[in-house]
Amino acid sequence: LPLAVGVDLGGTQLRVAVLRGATLLSRVGLLTGEDATPERLIPRICDAIRQALAEARVELGQVAGIGLGAPGPLNSKSGIIYSPPNLPGWENVPIRDILQKEFPVPIYIENDAHCAALGEYMFGAGRGSEDMVYMTVSTGIGGGIICKGRLLEGAGGTAGELGHMTIDLHGPRCNCGNIGCLEAIASGTAIARRANEAIAAGQGAELLAFARSLDEQTARQLHLPAGTEKESIERVNARTVGEAARAGIALARQILGEAARGLGVGLVNVIHIFNPRKIILGGGVMQLGDLILGPALDIVEQRAMKAPRSIVSIELAQLGPNVGLIGAGTLIYYHG
Ligand code: BGC
Ligand code: ZN
Repeated sequence: LPLAVGVDLGGTQLRVAVLRGATLLSRVGLLTGEDATPERLIPRICDAIRQALAEARVELGQVAGIGLGAPGPLNSKSGIIYSPPNLPGWENVPIRDILQKEFPVPIYIENDAHCAALGEYMFGAGRGSEDMVYMTVSTGIGGGIICKGRLLEGAGGTAGELGHMTIDLHGPRCNCGNIGCLEAIASGTAIARRANEAIAAGQGAELLAFARSLDEQTARQLHLPAGTEKESIERVNARTVGEAARAGIALARQILGEAARGLGVGLVNVIHIFNPRKIILGGGVMQLGDLILGPALDIVEQRAMKAPRSIVSIELAQLGPNVGLIGAGTLIYYHG
């Protein structure tokens, strides 16, 4: 396989790597921060690409191309990122043309979950499954559908927005503006929001105490001065809710259970619409393991039609935290 550059542009992190297939030769990562406007971030993306090449001791001319994955909606043909709910400040940015001026090699852009789907299909849990669906459950929820070995793009390139299927007609408001989306119910953001709402409503004393004790531990491990933890624990995040659930805190279990059942309903819909051989689940929230997967699979068992349910295998992703990067690099092999 030729060398490729993968760029994984996320709402919280930017990662760049030089890869050969699923093997990373170098890796550069940075936090995108609150103020990740295109004006600020694009020069940093270019710098990170140059740095990754330098660290791998590879010249631009030696790579077959650059693949970039970003939260959607975006159009891979025109190379324009529209206005992703999880990339605030980005509005119709012609990212591919901008990068093309700096890097005269083939450049492909694709929805982050589409990239991950291709990565898992070519190098991970999806190998050999020509009809599969990948779903990422992280800050947002995204999807990539592989149909007879090809990525389903849709008419405008935005197919597979699984996070924005409506799960609850009267549910919580989503970042996309809609109501009751899967993302508003089962994403890491949704889990954290529920926990913080419960705390604000005075129901979260036990959870808050747990979060504070965790934070004191982190502060000690990091050798932060005493008292720092009190300021840093303003809001509880999804990982803390997960750890609290493992420690048996009822509110945390209840919040995760709700999210997991929402995810289960989403899976039932995916099974009914696509009749996939495999559904691969990735993203930070899936690292909570059985706490999320257990109740979700129960819903699938109870609610999905038997014919498509009996042939689908639901598995966790194999490429781990680098799935986005490997997936972005995979664009070069998929298109090349
Ligand atoms: C976006 C998807 C993206 C997912 C994960 C969602 O909010 O709509 O396009 O794949 O987040 O980043
Ligand atoms: Zn939505």
